[in-house]
Amino acid sequence: MEETFVDKTEEPILKVEHLKKYFPIKRNFFGKPTQFLHAVDDVSFEVNAGTAIGVVGESGCGKTTLGRTILRLYDVDGGTVVFDGVELSSLKKSELRKYRTDIQLIFQDPYSSLPPRMTVGSIIAEAVKVHKIVPSNEIHDYVLGVMKQCGLQPQYYDRYPHEFSGGQRQRICIARALAVKPRLVICDEPVSALDVSIQAQIINLLKDLQRTMGLTYVFISHDLSVVKYITDQIMVMYLGNVMELGDTERIFENPQHPYTKALFSAVPVPDPDAKMNRIILEGDIPSPANPPRGCKFHTRCSQCMNVCRMIPPAYLETEENHFVACHLYNEEIMRELDKYDAMYEEELRLQAEKEAEEYARKHRKRTRNSGSADGTDSSIGGTQDGTDGVSADGTEPADTPAGTTAGAEEAQTEESQVR
Ligand code: SF4
Repeated sequence: MEETFVDKTEEPILKVEHLKKYFPIKRNFFGKPTQFLHAVDDVSFEVNAGTAIGVVGESGCGKTTLGRTILRLYDVDGGTVVFDGVELSSLKKSELRKYRTDIQLIFQDPYSSLPPRMTVGSIIAEAVKVHKIVPSNEIHDYVLGVMKQCGLQPQYYDRYPHEFSGGQRQRICIARALAVKPRLVICDEPVSALDVSIQAQIINLLKDLQRTMGLTYVFISHDLSVVKYITDQIMVMYLGNVMELGDTERIFENPQHPYTKALFSAVPVPDPDAKMNRIILEGDIPSPANPPRGCKFHTRCSQCMNVCRMIPPAYLETEENHFVACHLYNEEIMRELDKYDAMYEEELRLQAEKEAEEYARKHRKRTRNSGSADGTDSSIGGTQDGTDGVSADGTEPADTPAGTTAGAEEAQTEESQVR
């Protein structure tokens, strides 16, 4: 890995602690949210100045929402975002303005993120003018300098975005972001819309700029080969939670979480003789509106145990600067698996009993309703005489096992005998 401005002894430039972002998906009659989609759920990490962290995971795991919440494009629903010692999550919109230039975002789609009616020069110069980065008489030269740094020729200054290829457009987006002299850049899938040869050019450009300008990156991607090349740390996300976090080399050498292992098993190896032991994940990612109980990954994990279905795993440091959220690495839990198996079985038994009672209750109600509808004595239904299912002799109707039809008929027969 090439040398960068990494100084791991420094205070982190970005510190995210227990960050939460929930989107309301259902509201009651008064407009109060009653159900939420947990897009980012208790995420914590730190990034040192001059380094890059890769955020990886399947589509829908909350990577993009995380990036936008750090930038405060979305309001924070819990936790804190501290940038260079300042807590951004508690700042008002007006106070946030002075930090806007320090953190920039490079979008995934270079086609839709550029205004079509503005020339390249005016796109790059716009934020430079607004934030008064250089005196107004120097803006033209300054923009040409930034364009040169990003591999754009001076004659592109007066051209429009539609005249460029995808790779060149992404260079324009990068130039626009860097023109305001940011210290942290959130790159949201910056190369996924580009073809492979152009991807390499853009990644090399980002790496060169990091070296020359000392930039810090939060690099969001689902392409693990790209992440391996550009990042110092990797954070693996699943359903809004962090599954594994650690140094890039360490995670590639020794992925520990079953989800990380499955993701990394799909990375192509440039060796025709290498045997691929691909781990295929069964099923789809569950809905973040209704995530599974316990470990969120348990519905797809090949090593799932009963404890995983009940208790969310703690975040453990398994080796230096390598954190995993999985019960397999929790010695205390692994020692007491029998206890958790018994707990789970008891839970299943109680659940089955509850379901049987519920079924019986519903069946009795259905039977009473059909009895009322065909003109039989309403005392069984208990709606007309207010006895609420109590028969004429004051006893409850027969409590049939699991509410069978035979049981209901028996209750009706008893009732008619009383009459
Ligand atoms: S906690 Fe259990 S279900 Fe979750 S990843 Fe570990 S083994 Fe799999």
